[in-house]
Amino acid sequence: MIKRVKTKCIYVGDVPVGGDSPITVQSMTNTITADIESTVSQILELERHGCHIIRAAVNNREDALAINQIKKRTHIPFIADIQFDYRLGIQAVENGCDCLRINPGNIGSERKVREIVDCCKEYEVPIRIGVNSGSLSRKIIDKYGGVNTDSLVESAIDQLDMLEKLNFYNTKISIKSSDVNTMIDSYIKLSKKVDYPLHLGVTEAGPMMKSTVKSSIGIGSLLRMGIGDTLRVSITGNPVDEVVIGREILKSLSILNEGIDLISCPTCSRTKINLIELVEKAEMKLDQIDKNASIAIMGCPVNGPGEAREADLGIACGDGFGVIFKKGKIIKRVKEEELLDALLKEVELL
Ligand code: SF4
Repeated sequence: MIKRVKTKCIYVGDVPVGGDSPITVQSMTNTITADIESTVSQILELERHGCHIIRAAVNNREDALAINQIKKRTHIPFIADIQFDYRLGIQAVENGCDCLRINPGNIGSERKVREIVDCCKEYEVPIRIGVNSGSLSRKIIDKYGGVNTDSLVESAIDQLDMLEKLNFYNTKISIKSSDVNTMIDSYIKLSKKVDYPLHLGVTEAGPMMKSTVKSSIGIGSLLRMGIGDTLRVSITGNPVDEVVIGREILKSLSILNEGIDLISCPTCSRTKINLIELVEKAEMKLDQIDKNASIAIMGCPVNGPGEAREADLGIACGDGFGVIFKKGKIIKRVKEEELLDALLKEVELL
């Protein structure tokens, strides 16, 4: 059982973040936000894959105005990502966004930050401060000799100070780096200094394979220490993969116990059936099934039965056949070509 580092709880729309609330998975759209059809369609697909909170870039007035329509047709909280223009932040809040992602230091002046903060207070909308390697001021980089744990943490504290001076505490914070060690160290250091909810992520983590490794190590290490209240896996690719991998990270640590946990062996010379094809087909089918269960598909009668017995449902394969286990007991022996259908039928009965 992982002991969470205690943070305060804030609400992004109706989703709690921090405290004892479940750790949530976020993603970001890559459509033009003002293209309402495309943005809604992508958010709905992300919802179907288990995304809890969505973020979208708001680059102009059209994007900000679109939030109102997007919110009416989607079901998860919407975070508006604002870079420099405080007026867009205000328009996004007025049009129904559930959270703003800004860096107060990028907004330009105290007056502008105050205007955004006043608006967020009025609409009870939280702010996510998003510090990353690319957002540090020249002053801080020079002070600490580059982008490193100290400069990232000081930047995060500076940004928080700007909001706290305006009596704004409805905040969560991320402190991302593309370097996994820096990212982990920075979150650990920050979590000792503040009790705001932490949004975890490795920034600019690269394409699917690289990001999966980096994110699993970076985000996973912190979660294992109890640090982190919400997360985003960043991938150069389809945002659906970000959600799937984010959820798998949580499942691997038994933080999320939803859906099918598929266990399968890597195959070796003892495998006498086309296990890789069977597992690939099973994964595609099982992804569409809304049940919580562990399913093991194992390649041989030597090491297979052990795992197959431990799972809710398991297959241990022989030469051209497989033996199906249910809750530790053998229930049938099935020919290779009938294994997938037989397994799926048993899943339905669970
Ligand atoms: Fe090989 Fe059997 Fe292990 Fe699969 S379970 S990798 S077939 S020894």
